[in-house]
Amino acid sequence: MSSKKLGQLLLSQSVISKEQLDQALALQKEEGERYLGEILIELGASQVRVNRVLDLYNKRKSLEDMLVSSGYLTGTQLVDIQQEHFETHKSFRDILLEHCLITEKEYLQILSRHFNLPIISLTCMNPDRKLRRVVSEEFSKRNQVVVFEEGDKSIRVAIAEINTLLMEDLQQFRQTNKEMEFYLAPPDEIDMFIRNLFNLGSDSDVSMKKGLHRSDGELRRQSPKAVQRTLKIMDYIFNTALKSEASDIHLEAREQGGTVKLRVDGTLRVISMPEDFNREYVSVISRIKILTRSMKIDEKVVPQDGSFRGRYKIGDRAKLVDFRVSTVSSSNGECVTIRVLDQDKGKVTLEQLGFSGPVYEKFNELIRKPEGMILVSGPTGSGKSTTLYAALNSVADPGKKIITAEDPIEYTYEDIVQTQLNRARDVDFSTLLRAFLRQDPDVIMVGEIRDPETANMAIKAVQTGHLLLSTMHTVNTTKSVGRIRELQVEPMVFLSYTTAIMGQRLARSICPDCAEAYLPDLRLLRTCFGREGVAVQLVRGKGCSKCDDTGYRGRLAVTELWVPTADELDGLEDLNDQLILRSNAVAYGMRPMILDGLNKVLRHQTTLEELARVVPTIDADVELCQGMIDELLERHSAAGNEDLIPQADSRNRVSI
Ligand SMILES: [Zn+2]
Repeated sequence: MSSKKLGQLLLSQSVISKEQLDQALALQKEEGERYLGEILIELGASQVRVNRVLDLYNKRKSLEDMLVSSGYLTGTQLVDIQQEHFETHKSFRDILLEHCLITEKEYLQILSRHFNLPIISLTCMNPDRKLRRVVSEEFSKRNQVVVFEEGDKSIRVAIAEINTLLMEDLQQFRQTNKEMEFYLAPPDEIDMFIRNLFNLGSDSDVSMKKGLHRSDGELRRQSPKAVQRTLKIMDYIFNTALKSEASDIHLEAREQGGTVKLRVDGTLRVISMPEDFNREYVSVISRIKILTRSMKIDEKVVPQDGSFRGRYKIGDRAKLVDFRVSTVSSSNGECVTIRVLDQDKGKVTLEQLGFSGPVYEKFNELIRKPEGMILVSGPTGSGKSTTLYAALNSVADPGKKIITAEDPIEYTYEDIVQTQLNRARDVDFSTLLRAFLRQDPDVIMVGEIRDPETANMAIKAVQTGHLLLSTMHTVNTTKSVGRIRELQVEPMVFLSYTTAIMGQRLARSICPDCAEAYLPDLRLLRTCFGREGVAVQLVRGKGCSKCDDTGYRGRLAVTELWVPTADELDGLEDLNDQLILRSNAVAYGMRPMILDGLNKVLRHQTTLEELARVVPTIDADVELCQGMIDELLERHSAAGNEDLIPQADSRNRVSI
C-alpha cells in the first residue's frame, strides 16, 4: 500500500483541487467515521477518477476487512466464509445472504461506502426508450447492468455488484463528451428495469413478465428467484389451458393456497399443479391482475375485470389469444376466472359446427335472404353465439354492411362493424339497434333479445327490410313463443316476422383415439329410443392421454330448426299450448333435437349418455317423433355397422 495520503495522491493527479481537499478534510474531521473519497465525490470530484486512484495506489481497504470492522462479521466467520467461497465458488455476496449475515440492503450500503458509489432506487423510475441505444440489451442482461439516465454530461449506470472489469468494459459505451457514473442498485430492481427498458414486445411469456414491473409493494419484495417461480407456474397454467383448448381458467382460493380448474368442451376439470403452487397462489393472482394493466392489485374485495392479450405458440404456429379476467372475493381469498378467447375459434365456419345435412342447407339458405329474423335459442354455453358468428362470417362480404351489438365483443372480424354495450352510459341493445337503423345496414346482429324494447326494435328492423340475427335464452325453439310473450310482444306478430329459430346444444364428440364399442344402460336406451330391446351397436371413448381420460374431444352441435311458415301459423289457434305448437311444428317439418342427437349417436359421433345430459324434454319429444325414430333405427340397421369407430375428422369437432 502506498504510504502517500489519498488526498495528496488525488491532488497530484489533478483529480481534485486544493479547495476541495481542504473542505473535505474539514468535513471528515467534523463527521468522524466517513471516508475521504466518499466526501470528495459528494463535493463534486469525479467518481470514476477517485476510484481509479484508489485502486491504482491500493488505497482501498478490502471489503472483507470492512465487513469485519463494521461489525457484520467476526474474524472467525470471515475465515469460514472464505473457506466456503473457496470450496463452492459461490460469490461472497450469496454466501453472506444465504447465512443471513447481512441483508441485501446492508450489503449494498457496505459496497457503496467501500467503492464510493451511491445507491439508487430504480423502482419509481420510468425507463426512457432512448436509453436503449446506449448499452445493448444483451450486454445489460448478461452483466446485470442498466443505463437508467442520460444527461448532457453523464450517462448513469446501475450495477448490482462491483466488478472492475465490467466497469472498464462499460467504458466502451461511453460517448465522447459524457462520463459514465456508476450507481449501485438491488439486482431484482435492475432486472425489472432492464425488462421495462427493452419492453420485451408481444410474445406471450414476455408480455406476461412485462407486467411484473408495475410497482406493487408485495411483488417488489419478491426475490428474483421467487419471481421466476411464480412465472413458471403461470406459464404452466396458461400452456396447459391452451394445449387442452380450455375455454375458461378458474383459479379458486382454498384455505391453504388454491385450485386450478379448466373448462374443456363445456365441463370443468381440476388440473394437478406443481407442489409449490399453494405457496405461490397469491402472487400468481397478483401477476395475472397486473397483466390486465387496469385491475388494482391491492383491491382484493371489490370484484374487478380486465383483459390482456398474448401471443402463444401452439404446435408450430403462433396464435393470438385474448384473455378476459374477472375477480371475486371468497371466504378463502381472491378467485379469478379467465375466459380464453382464441381468435381462431372466432373463425369457426358453419360447416365445422356439425349440423346435419338438411339443417345446414336450410339454415345456409335462410341467412342469405335479404330480410327476416333468424334466432338461435338455447341456454348459456349451448354455442348460440358461435353459430351466429359462423352465420355472419358466411354471409360477410365487403359489398354488405354488417353491424353488430355485442355484450361484450369477444372476437373481432374484418368487414363487420362491431359495437359493444356500455351499461354505465346507458347504451343497451335497444339503443344500439335504434341507431343501427340509421346506419343503412344489410345485416344486423344483436347479442340477445332479452327485453321488450329490443324485441320491438328487432321487429321494426325486419319490417324496414333488414336481415336480423339474434339469440334468445330459451329451452328449445317452440318455447321462444312463451318467452316473447313475457317480453310483452304479441307472439303471432313476432312469429310472422321470424324466418327461423334454431334450437341448439353442444354435445361432446367421442375421442377418435380411444373409441370402443359398448352396451349402454338399458333404461337409457329405452328412454332415448322410446322402445324396449333396441339392438344397436354404440361407441364411447374409453379414455386416453389425448382426451385427458375423458373419452371426449371437441364438441358438435345438436340442433332443431323451426321455420314457422304462414300456413303453419294460420292453422294455429292456441299459441299457449306447447304440445300443440310443437307437434304442429313437427308436422310442418321440424325435426326435434332428440332426433338429430340420436342420428349422431348412431353414427358414433357422440354417446347416448352425452345426449341425455344436454338435450332437453327428451320424454315428450321422443313421444312426439316416435315414428321418425323408428324409421331412423330401420335405416341404420339396413346400412349396417361398418364405420363403427369414428374417424379422426376434425370437421365435425369444434371446441367452443
Ligand atoms: Zn381418448
